[in-house]
Amino acid sequence: MTAMYDCIIVGAGPAGGTAAYHLAKRGRSVLILEKEALPRYKPCGGGVSPQVAEWFDFDFTPAISLKTNTLRFTWKLEDPVEAQLDKTEPIWMVRRDVFDHFLVQQAQTQGAELRDRTEVSGIEFKSDHWQVNTATGPVAGRYLIAADGAKGSMAKWLGFKDRKRRLAGALEAEAAAQVTSPQVHFEFGMVKNGYIWNFPKADGYSIGIGTFRGGEPQDFKSILTEYAASFGIDLKTTRQYGHPIALWDGDQPLHTQNAVLAGEAACIVDPMTAEGIRPSIFSGMKAAEAIDQALSGNGNALEQYTEIIAKEWGSEMLWAQRLASVFYRIPGIGYKVGVKRPTAPERMGQILCGELRYSDVATRALKRLSGGLIGGPSGS
Ligand SMILES: Cc1cc2nc3c(=O)[nH]c(=O)nc-3n(C[C@H](O)[C@H](O)[C@H](O)COP(=O)(O)OP(=O)(O)OC[C@H]3O[C@@H](n4cnc5c(N)ncnc54)[C@H](O)[C@@H]3O)c2cc1C
Repeated sequence: MTAMYDCIIVGAGPAGGTAAYHLAKRGRSVLILEKEALPRYKPCGGGVSPQVAEWFDFDFTPAISLKTNTLRFTWKLEDPVEAQLDKTEPIWMVRRDVFDHFLVQQAQTQGAELRDRTEVSGIEFKSDHWQVNTATGPVAGRYLIAADGAKGSMAKWLGFKDRKRRLAGALEAEAAAQVTSPQVHFEFGMVKNGYIWNFPKADGYSIGIGTFRGGEPQDFKSILTEYAASFGIDLKTTRQYGHPIALWDGDQPLHTQNAVLAGEAACIVDPMTAEGIRPSIFSGMKAAEAIDQALSGNGNALEQYTEIIAKEWGSEMLWAQRLASVFYRIPGIGYKVGVKRPTAPERMGQILCGELRYSDVATRALKRLSGGLIGGPSGS
């Protein structure tokens, strides 16, 4: 007879690692299935909100490449705005192979089992549990968490055929370099409907480009190469990795029979900033709490998970989406009346750190943007 796990988690990214940690800590038997060998690379800027520390009882220091509270914004490489976020915790810059593996290792110390290099190929519900099929044979779990990211198939297999999401595209390159004064760079004018970033790490940069509102196809590679050259970095010899992003596009059910979606599988990425790590961790934690309660006999726990994500995260994302739809339509004005406001970078930092909510600032920001649109300076 094969083992019956309390919960099987598919995917060892931030959502899966977090869910595994919190379930194992509550004494539940957990199996994580990951198709790649850990540590694995994930195309990502690796900017992480320090708020996530509140949701764990261990120290993340070994997983953080560096911390910085200096931001620099540009428009077409000019008109810079520099900001020192003094009121907030510094932002974490992480390498995702290190960060994600660290989280999984923390879960393992709590008793979670990991099988990496194990791709899930299908799932079947068997009266009271899930059978999860892999190349090395089936495994069984009472509950299932789909944490297989933007490219995973679990949501489809669980019957979520038409999830609300806006698929965005991004390209990332990791360049080795000596970083002397770490600054988080955002460039808004060189790409339409998105931004370019340069995030410092202890031993180099994550340079990338993403568009979040659709529009005409753009030549990401040459735009990124031109941008990197402004930092003296030659991307022609550096590999660039493309990856989709599943942006939040409305609240929706995230639970079904003995299973929930977490992280990007649940389409929780901020449509304004493309921040996905913090909400993936948040939803992984809430998914673990829900499944723990379901295992203890709470028949409404999974439904409550859907409600909690909508209330705590979706309500914020609605404002982020409204802001994004105006900002990326008129980025030139957005840059002048939004980013260049003296208080704006501090506010953005506070939102990222969880000290301020979009709902606290969005109404005024939207008024300012539409004021700029009607009577202000011309756009892009
Ligand atoms: C270029 C780029 C830059 C980004 N920059 C940032 C940033 O700076 N800050 C930020 O907060 N967010 C950023 N994001 C978003 C962030 O990377 C994601 O939102 C986050 O990784 C989602 O975490 P997750 O745990 O849901 O999924 P993932 O991290 O994608 O992990 C899913 C895991 O599931 C595994 N898997 C998939 N299918 C299967 C299967 N069938 N069987 C077994 N395993 C499977 C995958 O191998 C993967 O390891 C960026 C995204 C992109 C594309």
